[in-house]
Amino acid sequence: MTVGILGGGISGLALAYFLEQDYEILEKDNSCGGLCTTFEKNGFLYDIGGHIMFSSNKDILKFEVDLLGENIHKKRRSNKIWYKGCFVKYPFENGLHALDKEEIFECLRDYLKNDHPKPSNLKEWFYYTFGTSISDKYMLPYNEKIWKIDPAEMGMEWVERIPKPPVEDIIKSAIGIETEGYTHQLYFYYPKKGGIQSLVRAFENKLKNIYTNSEVKAISKKDNKWYVQTQNSAHSYGSLVSTLPIFELIKILKQDVPESIKDAINALRYNSMAVVLVGLNKIKHNSLTAMYVHDKDSLAHRYCFSTGFSDTLAPPGCSSIFAEVTFNSNIPKEKVESKEVIDKTVFWLIKEGFIERADVCETDIKYIKYAYPVYDLNYTRSMKIIYEYFDRLEINLLGRFAQFIYINSDVCIANAKKLAKKLNTKVMA
Ligand SMILES: Cc1cc2nc3c(=O)[nH]c(=O)nc-3n(C[C@H](O)[C@H](O)[C@H](O)COP(=O)(O)OP(=O)(O)OC[C@H]3O[C@@H](n4cnc5c(N)ncnc54)[C@H](O)[C@@H]3O)c2cc1C
Repeated sequence: MTVGILGGGISGLALAYFLEQDYEILEKDNSCGGLCTTFEKNGFLYDIGGHIMFSSNKDILKFEVDLLGENIHKKRRSNKIWYKGCFVKYPFENGLHALDKEEIFECLRDYLKNDHPKPSNLKEWFYYTFGTSISDKYMLPYNEKIWKIDPAEMGMEWVERIPKPPVEDIIKSAIGIETEGYTHQLYFYYPKKGGIQSLVRAFENKLKNIYTNSEVKAISKKDNKWYVQTQNSAHSYGSLVSTLPIFELIKILKQDVPESIKDAINALRYNSMAVVLVGLNKIKHNSLTAMYVHDKDSLAHRYCFSTGFSDTLAPPGCSSIFAEVTFNSNIPKEKVESKEVIDKTVFWLIKEGFIERADVCETDIKYIKYAYPVYDLNYTRSMKIIYEYFDRLEINLLGRFAQFIYINSDVCIANAKKLAKKLNTKVMA
C-alpha cells in the first residue's frame, strides 16, 4: 500500500524517512524545503527568518544533529532587544537593568504589586504575568506588531510557549545581576554550510520517490483509494497524508466539503511575511544573533545577523542582515514583496546606526504566504471541528499549516515519527 505524501517540506520528508512502506512525495516547487528553504542571491544565503535547531525533545534534536553529520556547529544565542535606542538583553524581563532607573522602578513595582485578575486572553495574560509596565512598554507593542491583531483577540493557547521567569530572575534582572531566560534555546545548532535547507537536503539524500514540480491540483476518493492529480501526472494511493496548508487542501478536495467546515477553515487567521536580505560588503555585528524591535518605526519585528549563524551565509569578507516583516494574510503579494519594504528596512537600519548606505551591496526580498498561524479566540473550537472532519475523511494532516499549529521543525519531525508509527502499524495489522 503506497502512502501519498503531499508536500515536500520537513514534515513530508521526515514522514517518508520513518515510513516502513512505499511512498511518494509530491512537491509543487522545483525543490523541497517549504518553510525550511534557504534562498541565495549573489553568494548571500538567507533562510525564511532566523531558523535555528533547538528542541526540548532531546531525542529529536540529536536525530537532527546526527542527520547533518559533519555539517553542523553549536552556537550560543546572543539576542538583543532594541529599546529606545539601546540594547536590552533578550528576553526583555531578563534585561531590565539596561532601562533607565525610573523605568526599572516602574517595571519592578508593577511586577511585584500586581493585582490583575486571572486572564482569559493573551493581553490579560501579559498583565497578569508581568504587570502593567513590562506589558505596556514592550510585551504588548511587540506582540501587536508580530501578530497584527490586538492581543486581547488572541486566546491562551499561545501562552504555553512563553516561559515564565521565576520572581528571583526579575528582581535580579532589575538590579543588574545576570540571569538567562528562554534557556531551552540558549544554545542552538545550525548547519555549517548551506543554511537551514541543508537539513532538508540531508533527509532528501536518504529518500527516494520525490517528485518536485508536482503541484497537486485535485484529490478524490473512490473504493477506499485516493486519486491525486498534479499538473502533469496521476497517482493513486492506499493512504494519504497532507502537509499542505489547510486552506490549499480544501480548494483541491473533489468532495462536497460542508459549509460549516469551509467556514471554520476560512475563519482561521494567519500572517504572511516578507523576509528582506540586506547584504553588506563588510563584516558587521558579528557578536549578535538576532535583534527584536517592538517600535512601529521599524517595519521588521526581528533582524537576524548572518555571522551569528554561520560565516558561510555571506561571501568572504561580507555579512548580512535578514529582516522579518509580518503582514495580514489579506495583503497582496505585490505589496509585501516590494521595493518599498526593502527601502524602509534599509532606511531604518541606517537611521538607527546599524549600517551605512555604502555598506549595502545586495538586497533581496521574498514573500512567504503562510508564515505564522495566529491563535485567535475561536482557534480551539474551529480546529476541533476541522480535525474531526479530516479524521472522518481519513486524510492525515501533518505539519505547521496542515495541522495549523505554531510548531517548529523539531515538532514537525516528532509528529511525523508518530504518524509513521501509526501508518506502519496499520499495514502490519
Ligand atoms: C519566520 C519563521 C521562523 C522559523 N524559525 C524556526 C526555527 O528557528 N527553528 C525551527 O525549528 N523552526 C522554525 N520555523 C518553523 C519551521 O520552518 C516549520 O515548522 C517547518 O518548516 C514546517 O514544515 P512543514 O513541512 O510542516 O510545512 P511547509 O514547510 O509549509 O511544507 C509544506 C510543503 O507543501 C508544499 N505545497 C503546498 N501546496 C502544494 C500543492 N498544491 N502541491 C504540492 N505541494 C504543495 C509547499 O511547497 C511546501 O514545500 C520558523 C518558521 C517561520 C515562518
